[in-house]
Amino acid sequence: MDWYEPEDRPMPWKESKNIYHIWLSEIMLQQTRVDQMLPYFERFVDRFPDVYSLAEAGEDEVLKYWEGLGYYSRARNLHKAAGLIAERAEGDVPRHIEEWMELPGVGPYTAAAITSFVYGDPNAVLDGNVFRVLARFFGLDVPIDTSQGKKVFSKLADQLICQNDPAIYNQAIMDFGATVCKPANPLCETCPVSEQCVARLGNLIAELPVKSRRPNKKKWKITYCHLHDHQNLLLVRRPSEGVWGGLYELPAFSGKGEMVNWMWDNFQLKLPGSPVPVHIRHELTHRRIEAEVFSVRVEKLKGVKTESCLLVSSKKLPKFALHSLMKKYFAIFTSD
Ligand code: SF4
Repeated sequence: MDWYEPEDRPMPWKESKNIYHIWLSEIMLQQTRVDQMLPYFERFVDRFPDVYSLAEAGEDEVLKYWEGLGYYSRARNLHKAAGLIAERAEGDVPRHIEEWMELPGVGPYTAAAITSFVYGDPNAVLDGNVFRVLARFFGLDVPIDTSQGKKVFSKLADQLICQNDPAIYNQAIMDFGATVCKPANPLCETCPVSEQCVARLGNLIAELPVKSRRPNKKKWKITYCHLHDHQNLLLVRRPSEGVWGGLYELPAFSGKGEMVNWMWDNFQLKLPGSPVPVHIRHELTHRRIEAEVFSVRVEKLKGVKTESCLLVSSKKLPKFALHSLMKKYFAIFTSD
């Protein structure tokens, strides 16, 4: 806490005790770096200045404002949670950590961060930065992503938290992990606790923290059909749950054969000649995706009736929240 200088990392939500801003920033920061999320945060707060405006918005619009940040279940859960808060008798935000943890998308870390930053409750936060600082400083090699590891670290963090100023303590240890005890090349030379650091003394910095082995990523092959005329194209909204839930994409198939049947059954169209698809590789946390996209241009799409597809004007495409793989494809397609 002596080391901590809040003004070193100014952030718009730190100055105020606005609980909505702090909640939103914590959700955005779960999988995203501060510099990446800041412009999203500002745009989001401009459009949805409080929990009630967020609750009133449609999911499509919320996802559009989240587009590019990834991990879209965060946005869907935030939106759902805002709806639940707006429905409460007084419409007030929860006060205690247990109430926060009942909301979708709010885990122990986020609930601890919110209640300590806003109300000064002595709830210790445990994010990736804190795990790393504690693992290195105390030389703990229990894997941080196991239930046993979480228990050990959580007990230690609760013992360490400063009861007089939990907010500053939490912020200080997270910022220390983000700026000094970094994942690679930590600044041990200038670190104020280097003389007591077990990892430094035992030359274990690269080994800590320990994670259990992650399973190999699953491969996922997808065939997309970019069916369009010179003005319109077809889009599909993905189901709300699961990968890229609620986002838009081109009609997707398990392979070319299925796509060819779909084209014939719905539009009496044959795949002209032997078109060469665009190949796109894309990585998600648990999947390695290999996509092929067939661009099929027809004379006229207007008036086409499909149950599951939307006929969309190409000019309006930017208004739809597309997932990252689709964005890659359209960037290639429009640059050709
Ligand atoms: S000495 Fe190095 S590894 Fe240890 S806490 Fe400081 S920055 Fe982290």
